[in-house]
This record gives sequence, C-alpha cells and structure tokens, in this order.
Amino acid sequence: MKVPPPPSPSPPPFLLTLALALAAASASASASAAQVCIIGSGIAGSSLSHFLHYHRPPPSAAIHSIIFERSPSVGGRMSTVSIAGAVFEAGASIIHPKNLHAASFVETLNLTSRSMDSSSSSSYFGVWDGRRFVFRSLPTPSESDWSLYRRFLHPIVDDLRIFWRYGFSLLKMRRFVGDMLGRFMRYYEGVEGRPVFESVEEMLRWSGLHGLTQRALREELVEAGLSERLISELVTVITRINYGQSVSISGLAGAVSLAGSGSGFWSVKEGNWQIAAGLIKHSNATLHLQEEIISVSRVEDHYELTSAEGNHYHCDVAVVATPLDELNISFIPPISIPPRKLQHTYTTFVHGLINPAYFGFTLASEVPDLVGTVESPDLPFSCVAVQKKISEDDKVYKIFSRSPMQDDLLDKIFSTRKDTIRINWAAYPHFEAPEVFAPFVLDGFHLYYINAFENAASTIETGAVAAENVARLILSRLHSRSPYVQELRSPALEEEKLHLDL
Ligand SMILES: Cc1cc2nc3c(=O)[nH]c(=O)nc-3n(C[C@H](O)[C@H](O)[C@H](O)COP(=O)(O)OP(=O)(O)OC[C@H]3O[C@@H](n4cnc5c(N)ncnc54)[C@H](O)[C@@H]3O)c2cc1C
Repeated sequence: MKVPPPPSPSPPPFLLTLALALAAASASASASAAQVCIIGSGIAGSSLSHFLHYHRPPPSAAIHSIIFERSPSVGGRMSTVSIAGAVFEAGASIIHPKNLHAASFVETLNLTSRSMDSSSSSSYFGVWDGRRFVFRSLPTPSESDWSLYRRFLHPIVDDLRIFWRYGFSLLKMRRFVGDMLGRFMRYYEGVEGRPVFESVEEMLRWSGLHGLTQRALREELVEAGLSERLISELVTVITRINYGQSVSISGLAGAVSLAGSGSGFWSVKEGNWQIAAGLIKHSNATLHLQEEIISVSRVEDHYELTSAEGNHYHCDVAVVATPLDELNISFIPPISIPPRKLQHTYTTFVHGLINPAYFGFTLASEVPDLVGTVESPDLPFSCVAVQKKISEDDKVYKIFSRSPMQDDLLDKIFSTRKDTIRINWAAYPHFEAPEVFAPFVLDGFHLYYINAFENAASTIETGAVAAENVARLILSRLHSRSPYVQELRSPALEEEKLHLDL
C-alpha cells in the first residue's frame, strides 16, 4: 500500500496525524487481507475477482485476489484469431440480450459492444443432411434488389416459409425457451432475497431449473408439443452449432442453446476476452500469466499452490475456475468429483471460397451463408458459416466439427483456400441427463470450484452467475462468525447498491 506523498504546503498538525492514522489503518488492513488464489483467468475467474471486490467486506476483512493463468493471455475460451487481416471470435462469440452481468461488465468497463444482428451474414441459412438441403431460407437480398422487398417483404416471406415448414411448433419452442429465461432471471434478483447457495443443485432448485437438467432435451420438447420435424431439423442444427451435440443433451443446456438462436445478440468490439482483462484490472487483482498450477495442498488452515515454474503461493482461499475434467492438478488431500466428459469442438477458419459442387450447386453464391447439419454419422462437420465477405469470391468461413477437419476434406469443401487456422477446444461438458454435479466446496474448507455449475449450461453468463454465487459463498464462509454475514444480506449495504447498479 503506497503512503501518499506529504501535501505541500505542510498541513496543520492534526490533519497530519489523521493522515498517518489512516495510512497505518489501511496498511494493516492490506497486511491482513485474505489471499484468494484463483486458477484460471476466463470469465469464471475474472468475474469471481470482480464479485469479491463488489461484495467486498469492510477494510478490516479485506480480500486480495491473485489469478493464475497458464496461457500467455487472459480470457480462456473467450479468445480471438486473426485471418485475412481481420479479427474473429474463436470461442465464445455471442452474448444474449438478457445476459445482464455481461451487459453490466461492458458498461462498467467502458467497453464497446457491437450488434451481431447487423454483422451476421447468416440470414441465408440451410439445413444440410449430407446429400441435400432439407430446408433453405430465402437468399439474402442483394443491394441491387428493390429496397421495399429488401427491407419489408423479404423478412416476411422468409418467416412465412419457415412457418410453413415447422408450423405452430415454432411458437411452442419459443415458449419453452422463454420459460427457461424467466426462471434464469431470478439469479439477478437483489441479494436481500437471494440466498447464498452451498451447492449447484440447491441453486438450480431455487430458480426452478433443476428439473431441466434431469431429462434430455428431446423428452422436454416432445412433452412441450414440438413436432418431430422441428426437433430433428432446426433444433438439432442449433444444438450441434452451439454445443456440438445432439438433442439428447440435457433440457437446460438445450434450452440455453435454443436461446442462442434468436435475435438481439451482441459481442464486444475487438473481442469478448476484453471483459476478463477489464474485470481483472478493475478488481485490482494480481495476475500471473504463464503460471500453470500443478498442485494445491492444504497446510493447516491455508493452501499452498505450486506452479509448473516451481513457485509456491500461500493462500487463505483457493478457487478452481476452470473445468477439472481434463486437468492434471494434484490435490492434497485428494478430492473426489463425479466423472464428466468434455465435448471437443474443432474450430476451423478458412480464408477462401466454398466449393458449390460439394453442395450440389453451380455458383458459390447459391450456398447458404450458414450451413447447419442434422444428426448423421456421415456428416463431417456441424456447421460452416461465412464470417466475412471480402468480395463475392473471397470470404472467411468458420467451421465447427466433432473431429479435426483434414486437408483432403477441406479441399473438397472449398474450391480455393488461402489460409486455414485450426483450434481444438475442450469446449464444454458432454451434457447428459440426469446431470450430477460436483460440489462448489471441494474439501469442506476453503477450496472452491466454480465450474461445478458448467454441466447445467456453459456460457459466458452462466460462468458469471456461478462466480457471483461462489464469491458470496466465500465471503459468507470466511466471515461466518462476523456481523458481516448479516450485512451481506442487508438491503442497506453500500456494496449491494453498487452491485445492483452494475
Ligand atoms: C467454440 C466455442 C464456442 C462457444 N460459444 C459461446 C457463445 O457464443 N456464447 C457464450 O456465452 N458461450 C460460448 N461458449 C462457452 C464459453 O466459452 C464458456 O462457457 C466460458 O467461456 C467458460 O469460461 P470459464 O472461465 O469457466 O473457463 P475458461 O474460459 O476455459 O477459462 C479457464 C482458464 O483456466 C486456465 N487454466 C486451466 N488450467 C490451469 C492451470 N492448471 N493453471 C493456470 N491456469 C489454468 C485456462 O488456460 C483458461 O484460460 C463457447 C465455447 C466454445 C469452446
């Protein structure tokens, strides 16, 4: 803690005494600050640091976050790539209009958001079954088209075509998603009425979402009255795009995935990873980049974290803010969590031009800008989508697939390929109903796991919602014998007002 330089001219003696007393008080507060060590700088780790700061206790029980990130940059699965001279989201790309934490982060951090509706080139979409398009929307009208048609008639005719194929099932699907969103909104209620949850199950039961994690999406949708055609075509396309999985994923992950197919989406200009960078800075956390934690040991009443670089860190609280499923961190004493598989998504960017013949067309412009796929073992990709049209015969595409896209396959799908970037993401849980959740508190003391929530659903916002709960859980358990716990739940508390303003 820096002591401010003495002001000039010299202050009266009583002011000097007061200044010295204040400096001494804050120095001692900082010396006694609880060290919260966070493994991972994605949205879970960065927003935990933020929420600890915002729900922070009085100075006598200060908190200091230390974040460890094995990569050279922050953000985790919020990450960008550069191709054809432009920057694209490689991981989490869209944010839902009802994601209130993400929206408030962007506002607090003074970041610029951009609408995905206007930048999206996917209004012309098709459902590909490997041999033919079972459905195609109307091609996006060109600038030369009659403007009345472009602005008004095209969307109406397009909606009618979709309605003609899928009928009232579309409305039932919207109702199903709306119901899930309504329940999810409870996580934004004021802290005076919102409990601190000790487990994921408790958190999901409170909002009424737990049931959706116990049954497959298909079962939920059949019960909601959706037609088989809608489920096996449009719904399947969406779950394959958003989670690389079929309609046998759990109902909640499925509903979240379907919510990602509406309108009003946005992202952060220059990359969603900036949310993580901003939150870390804003919460005054200490960040250690390229520091991979390999072991977490409980030593008496604290934890010792050891990194692959051979450094040791003393922590009062340790938080895992990354999925543990494919990691090799050793815990002493050992911890036990339910087994969970991760779904790998291979993201391939291609700068070039699609081969129309692969899809049975003669012109590249006839191929939908978003090609989604149905569930079929022969299909080598989940979707191919235009990201940027540089010209009619020069575009950037993003492909999602469940296995790597080899060169010979790409050479069939694309007639020209100037550049290719491949990323193998351990992307999200392999969602499987009934979901069983790991505990938020891994050892009964102060070792926490934010990503226990991730097999409910995996998004930027659900990461932030889980992190907020874990922040409140840490504070209430750290100070369980202090009056602060009461204050944490008091509507009059300044921190709460700050949080509600967020
Ligand atoms: C291809 C793809 C598309 C997606 N699309 C969307 C979308 O459009 N919208 C949306 O909301 N969500 C989307 N998601 C999901 C979203 O990205 C994740 O749910 C969210 O980013 C998870 O954040 P996290 O902080 O929990 O984990 P991560 O972002 O994975 O962060 C964990 C961090 O921990 C670090 N780490 C791991 N082990 C160690 C260690 N031992 N020591 C130190 N550091 C370590 C990792 O390097 C990483 O940076 C998508 C995900 C993928 C993969």
